[in-house]
Amino acid sequence: MMKKRISSVFIVTVIFSLLMANSASAYATWGFTLTGGVKDRYYYVDPSNPKFSTITSAVAAWNTIDPVYISPSQFSSTDVAFYYTSSVLSSQIDFYTSDYGTTGWYGLTLFYNGTSMYPAGSGPTGPYTWCKIQLNSTSSYPAPTNTWLAIAIHEMGHALGLAHFSGSIMDAGIAGLTTPSGLTSDDINGIRSLY
Ligand SMILES: [Zn+2]
Repeated sequence: MMKKRISSVFIVTVIFSLLMANSASAYATWGFTLTGGVKDRYYYVDPSNPKFSTITSAVAAWNTIDPVYISPSQFSSTDVAFYYTSSVLSSQIDFYTSDYGTTGWYGLTLFYNGTSMYPAGSGPTGPYTWCKIQLNSTSSYPAPTNTWLAIAIHEMGHALGLAHFSGSIMDAGIAGLTTPSGLTSDDINGIRSLY
């Protein structure tokens, strides 16, 4: 009986420790932000893009980071609001879907400062003014249909300044996961720390 009680205390302690570790800083960032912020900005996607509706839903997910989640004093800087534009010249995030071949990725975010692109495959090493998000529709390793929304949300998270973090939408293996399928509080806190 005594032994069982000790075990229970141990289990509770472990769970509590995990929660504490999780609440500290459960996100990772590139350390750089989108110049001009994330409020009242524009995203571009061609109407013929086969994942148009998925991309629209992904942007809508990020747009939920609004005053519902933040204190009034943070309202003007951390509210996320991306509007659709059909003009690629006036957007800050451009989405493309194509068969990019056997690249090893489902989604890739490229960072630009003006006309110069930061090296692909990692985050920006300085401020950036716009991003290009590529979704790979290759048939060599097709993603399950229901994970494309998570992949699109994940890539936009990169564009907003988040790096990989396990257990959130920014999990590097999000394409193979069934959860999370949308933003977690970690992702929201990450954006709030940046803007
Ligand atoms: Zn990623």
